[in-house]
Amino acid sequence: MKDRWPDAFKVISKLEDAGFEAYVVGGAVRDFVRGVQANDVDITTNALPHEVKTLFEHTIDVGIEHGTVLVVLEDPIEVTTYRSETSYSDFRRPDEVRFVRTLREDLQRRDFTINAMALTKEDELIDFFGGKQDLKLKIIKAVGNPKERFSEDALRMLRAIRFSSQLNFSLEKSTLDAIQELHPLITHISMERVKVELEKIWISNYPYRGMELFAATGLSEHFLGDWCTNVSLWKQFNHFGNRANGWAFFVLMNEGLNIGEILSTFKCSNDEKSYVKNVLLAVKFLKKGFWTSYELFQFTVEVLIGAASYSQIIQHIEHPYTPDILADLKARLAISSVREIVVSGHDLMEWKKEKRGPWIREVLDRLTTMILNEEIENDRQHIKEWFIREYVN
Ligand code: ATP
Ligand code: MG
Repeated sequence: MKDRWPDAFKVISKLEDAGFEAYVVGGAVRDFVRGVQANDVDITTNALPHEVKTLFEHTIDVGIEHGTVLVVLEDPIEVTTYRSETSYSDFRRPDEVRFVRTLREDLQRRDFTINAMALTKEDELIDFFGGKQDLKLKIIKAVGNPKERFSEDALRMLRAIRFSSQLNFSLEKSTLDAIQELHPLITHISMERVKVELEKIWISNYPYRGMELFAATGLSEHFLGDWCTNVSLWKQFNHFGNRANGWAFFVLMNEGLNIGEILSTFKCSNDEKSYVKNVLLAVKFLKKGFWTSYELFQFTVEVLIGAASYSQIIQHIEHPYTPDILADLKARLAISSVREIVVSGHDLMEWKKEKRGPWIREVLDRLTTMILNEEIENDRQHIKEWFIREYVN
């Protein structure tokens, strides 16, 4: 561990030197056993939060009430006291956190066997629930009784599907059965949290797997009726590029859905909404096989990349637009925003001796198109001559 995660190694060593136990847990152990790079490394310990704080110079309280202290060396590391979760009264996270004495109890509260392993600083694996075997079998299996676990925290049902999309794993039978039975509990979870998991499915490597499970388990029923009926289309994607593309593609693949309603239900931000609308528009414009300069001008390069990939994969539209080509085309446009036009509405009013009105917008739009099409240079004198010819005399 020393070379792989030097900071985690230091934190564990220091805790052990002070007489405590400490291990790397969760996603990092799962990824280590799978032989892939971990996102972030979490540590669990029997030291209490205030004890962790006295041992390290720089710490941040991020969730003391949950037993978590952020220890800052090079990168911050979450150090969480062994805990169990008690009295789930509303199918969400626990009402109360109870610190416990053993690593085993801490691992037992974790959601899936593959997430419930621990690693010593000497890289010795501690695996009470068969996580390593389940990684080999490529299955997501609840720790303990799946029905109990999903009743404690209904979000775990979505997490199961999310991990299955990320890892291309199946759901173990009793875990799948439990979701099929308990899916209505998902309504106790806030849309914000559902959104996070859905988006993780969309940017995973196997979004199809997630969407299929989402529909097959009955979970999808609770979000706008029988959406995602077109699940087979998702098979053609192996990556959506970014979260917002997920929403855009989702709407595009399920014709007839009320876009505004969906995006509002999931509490998408205004930026996300406008991104989605732009992708939809760009896809529509690309049906003719190319984008005009004005269309390239109109959308951001991210929107264009998203729309280009959708058009190609789902609509089988042949077009030349790779991400590199799009970036290049955008960079070569004569102007990148209306503000770059060297004349203003005031100039037009003065030259024509006419008051402000909708006519200014019309002239500027026309001018934008002409500049983009290189029919006129973005040069004051040229534009003035053209304007006087067309609008004044
Ligand atoms: P990722 O790579 O996506 O971060 P992760 O496994 O680290 O995956 P996190 O959501 O960061 O997932 O959670 C860290 C660990 O905490 C999990 O591996 C799991 O052991 C535990 N955990 C997280 N959420 C829950 C939950 N709702 N119920 C039970 N255990 C959970
Ligand atoms: Mg994590």
